[in-house]
Amino acid sequence: MLKVAKFGGSSLADAKQFQKVKSIVDADESRRLIVVSASGKRSKDDNKITDLLYLCHAHLQYSVSCESVFSLIESRYLEIKQELGLEINIEEDFAKLRARLDKSLSVDELVSRGEYLTARMMAEYLGFDFVDAAQLVLFDFDGKLNTEKTYAAIREALQEHERLVMPGFYGSLPGGRIKVFSRGGSDISGALLAAAAGADLYENWTDVSGILMADPRIIDNPRRIDTITYPELRELAYMGANVLHEGAIYPVKDAGIPINIRNTNAPDDDGTIICGEDAADLPDSSALITGLTGKKNFTVVTVSKNQHEDNLGIIRRALEVFEKYRVEVEHIPSGIDSFSVVVSSDQVESCLYDIVGEIRAVCRPADIRIVDSIALVAVVGRGMSYRPGVSGRLFAALGDAKINIRMIAQGSDELNIIVGVENKDFETALRTIYSNFVEPADQAPHAAL
Ligand code: ASP
Repeated sequence: MLKVAKFGGSSLADAKQFQKVKSIVDADESRRLIVVSASGKRSKDDNKITDLLYLCHAHLQYSVSCESVFSLIESRYLEIKQELGLEINIEEDFAKLRARLDKSLSVDELVSRGEYLTARMMAEYLGFDFVDAAQLVLFDFDGKLNTEKTYAAIREALQEHERLVMPGFYGSLPGGRIKVFSRGGSDISGALLAAAAGADLYENWTDVSGILMADPRIIDNPRRIDTITYPELRELAYMGANVLHEGAIYPVKDAGIPINIRNTNAPDDDGTIICGEDAADLPDSSALITGLTGKKNFTVVTVSKNQHEDNLGIIRRALEVFEKYRVEVEHIPSGIDSFSVVVSSDQVESCLYDIVGEIRAVCRPADIRIVDSIALVAVVGRGMSYRPGVSGRLFAALGDAKINIRMIAQGSDELNIIVGVENKDFETALRTIYSNFVEPADQAPHAAL
């Protein structure tokens, strides 16, 4: 059994968190490959080391001294070192880095030092080998990850290091220059290590006990999702649920390795398992919905066909106009005499009138109507497929709550139902659906249809 365990910033915020990580790693022999983020916030008002490093870089760009911010970073690391009684000479690392603090130091290299130093300290603390991600995570000249070379480099390193700690978030370009992933990218580093090593499980340790069925800011005490499939997670993430870095899914999904989201502060909680559809025949297979989420602020452009015109290709012509303005189309609900194009209001803010003008010219419609302030609610669940009555129950619940449905879309795999409502009804719609389909957290697992 081999597990890759990735610990996020809040799991490494101070010496006490390092101790929790050590007891988690020590508790399971198979946790042999460890990936760490940079130390995160110790409390709500604290700063993440990565943010402070970005701030240092911004100072340098304006030729303003970043000494006070840099000392803050240094003192956080020294405090952890002292409290844990580590021997590592990070003072020297800081002295060297301080001497290079000028405009020529690349932002990627500077911000990557958060993960680098956290990993070196953690390696000593756990008694594992430190392996620099610059040697293992390899990008091409164009900045794209070279998966093949990365996997080969990781596999070679695994021959030498049975237990290792690797910093997350960065790798290197040909020639050795440091390159970072986008924010939250340590999730990807862990996924790459898991895939290359052929791990049995990729554990992603954070500060919540798994993925919740709905946003706790809207739904009071939502249930935790026990098992979710990769496609379900993608639907939820696309529509706003913020769980894992999107780039972390593909490596492990392709390799058939499940991800387990766990809580460093509550290590006995099982967390959420993310796995392939075949592996997900689940303990809670009676559940109809896995989760629900959504986003506000969509604009719906409805084009009514002109009966005196040849309407062949009219949808294509309208979509080409959106494409020309680089606006992503979310949904295209259609009727016999009209079709609508749903887009994010942000994306059309500056070009809506140009788009409408061009659609008028190329489609010669009878009418074009625009409705904005629309929210999309996404109800996601593999349990909904081939189950008659789910959408009926959903729409009836919304009707009872006096919520007017402005649009409906369902994917053909029946994995999700998207409902468009007015922005003002968004929260009520989510609460109504949740209370109709899910029992409260302290009762039976899920309501059956
Ligand atoms: N430390 C980086 C960030 O804050 C990367 C990560 O934590 O995954 O985005």
